[in-house]
Amino acid sequence: MENCLFCRIVNREIPSSIVYEDDLILGFKDIEPQAPVHVLLIPKIHVSSLNDLGKEHGELIARLTSVIPQVAEKMGVKDSGYRVVVNCGEDGGQTVFHLHYHILGGRALENQFG
Ligand code: AMP
Ligand code: ZN
Repeated sequence: MENCLFCRIVNREIPSSIVYEDDLILGFKDIEPQAPVHVLLIPKIHVSSLNDLGKEHGELIARLTSVIPQVAEKMGVKDSGYRVVVNCGEDGGQTVFHLHYHILGGRALENQFG
């Protein structure tokens, strides 16, 4: 989608530090990391938020989910532990409206739900 930051990252119009890629998914380092490991995992197709997922996205969501431990392993946090966060909408704190999973690790994270 034009003017979507993460679509532009998928299309290599904006540089990013890519840590994972397959035909459906891209993983790259968050530009403002909140932990030593902070990766964003996104579908390559534009989906604005969790609210826009439907049955047609079943394979995509299965892939997104199964890739999480692979990324965690690559980033060295699979065994130490990590957190996966998806913000949805204004109250959820979503600022980029292209669905993304935050994968955070590399330190003991606070028990914090806002
Ligand atoms: P959210 O608040 O859940 O929508 O998360 C958006 C995330 O995108 C934030 O953690 C930002 O730091 C991150 N972000 C914004 N611009 C970029 C960029 N150009 N490259 C990597 N991460 C970005
Ligand atoms: Zn997009």
